[in-house]
Amino acid sequence: MSSASETLTAPRLPQTRLLRTELPGPVSQRLHAERRRHVSSGFGIALPVFVERADGAVIEDVDGNRILDLASGIAVTSVGAANPLVQHEVAAQLERFTHTCFMVTEYDGFVKVCRWLNENTPGDFDKRTALFSTGAEAVENAVKIARAATGRPNVLVFDEAYHGRSLLTMAMTAKPAPYKNGFGPFPEHVVRAPNAVALRWPGDPERVAEEALAEVERLLAEHGPDTFAALVIEPIQGEGGFLVPAPRFLAGLRELATRHGIVFVADEIQAGMGRTGRMFAIEHEGVVPDLVISAKALAGGLPLSAVTGRAEIMDAPAVGGLGGTYAGNPLACAAALGVFQAFEASDLLGRALAIEQTVRAALEPHTGPASVVAEVRGRGAMMAVEFAQPWTLEPLPQLAQAVAADCLAQGVLVLVCGTHGNVVRLLPPLVIEDALLDDGLAVLTAAIAEAQQRFLGAHA
Ligand SMILES: *Cc1c(COP(=O)(O)O)cnc(C)c1O
Repeated sequence: MSSASETLTAPRLPQTRLLRTELPGPVSQRLHAERRRHVSSGFGIALPVFVERADGAVIEDVDGNRILDLASGIAVTSVGAANPLVQHEVAAQLERFTHTCFMVTEYDGFVKVCRWLNENTPGDFDKRTALFSTGAEAVENAVKIARAATGRPNVLVFDEAYHGRSLLTMAMTAKPAPYKNGFGPFPEHVVRAPNAVALRWPGDPERVAEEALAEVERLLAEHGPDTFAALVIEPIQGEGGFLVPAPRFLAGLRELATRHGIVFVADEIQAGMGRTGRMFAIEHEGVVPDLVISAKALAGGLPLSAVTGRAEIMDAPAVGGLGGTYAGNPLACAAALGVFQAFEASDLLGRALAIEQTVRAALEPHTGPASVVAEVRGRGAMMAVEFAQPWTLEPLPQLAQAVAADCLAQGVLVLVCGTHGNVVRLLPPLVIEDALLDDGLAVLTAAIAEAQQRFLGAHA
């Protein structure tokens, strides 16, 4: 077999930002007009440029602009957009075969990915893994598995949650627009509890976790704790605004789940796979879930998702009850093996923690009660800035949008999130070089300073 470096013919893309045209450039604009004629307008777009190639933390568009990628295709290309180890594994698999369907005939890549997840997810017990294609599909299957294991109907989810766009996962997702409006009716037996978020907690700021847990207990009692198959929670919420739960909340939920025989499911689709500086974000809390859901960064951009957990729960569905034509596609499994090699080859978890330090050092000076920056939060390379009215904390989505637009115009790709759309989030590839990250943060901090000045000027 040829080595990874031999399989590379194209030179690597320079890891610097470069604007040759305004964004979007003329070629992108022409292609975008074509898109309008052929693609459902139901798809939104953060930055309407068409991509020619991408590598590391740089996206080169069809007009020759090099854009700094602080989005990673929504937390997917953590090992870079054209990682040689991923490319090598996928190319080798491409030569062997592209598909068999794992329910028809078997292949080793599928088993290797399952084994790696069993060995690397939290928990020192016998585990099994099931592979699928998308995150939403894995969340649905986690609920199916938990129901099969418990014989119970209800699913507990949380405020600000995002779990996907299929019918069940829409029901589990909190935010109505744009995810749910017009798409109902939704499946029943989804019960929503408050999430222990300190920033706007209406009660005692010292007892956020305790008070939120008391409300969870009240909800469990109201519906009957033995009606709950699963509780599903993001250890750090993604689309909801990069909300880190108050300390002890996840541990308290773990305790409640154990007491009532409820399957604890960690949706690690956005926060997992090294993003936060631990392989799985829930490790920061020392909590061991029964099931862990992986997707996004699992296969470096090829569609692959997984449910991993206790063998006795994972083996509860009847034979033939789980599956899918493309579930654990061989090319996607090969890509995941390349991703695992990338984590072995360099200290990407350490990189994620270093990125947090750099981001905090650049952005935290902008926070404070008199500032429009209400909070800088997150873990590792999953960091966000929330914009709100000074003193009142009224969300300021127009400021987040203005800051993001300012960054986009300068070729720094950032995304907005949050229930109120007032959060700018940073999801750089873990392989981003220091100079490039500094460049992006300089653009972002200047945009924040300008937005702050404009806002305070208008409200003086
Ligand atoms: C993206 C995401 C999903 C849905 O994954 P898809 O692959 O888009 O279906 C579910 N949960 C979380 C936390 C996510 O970030």
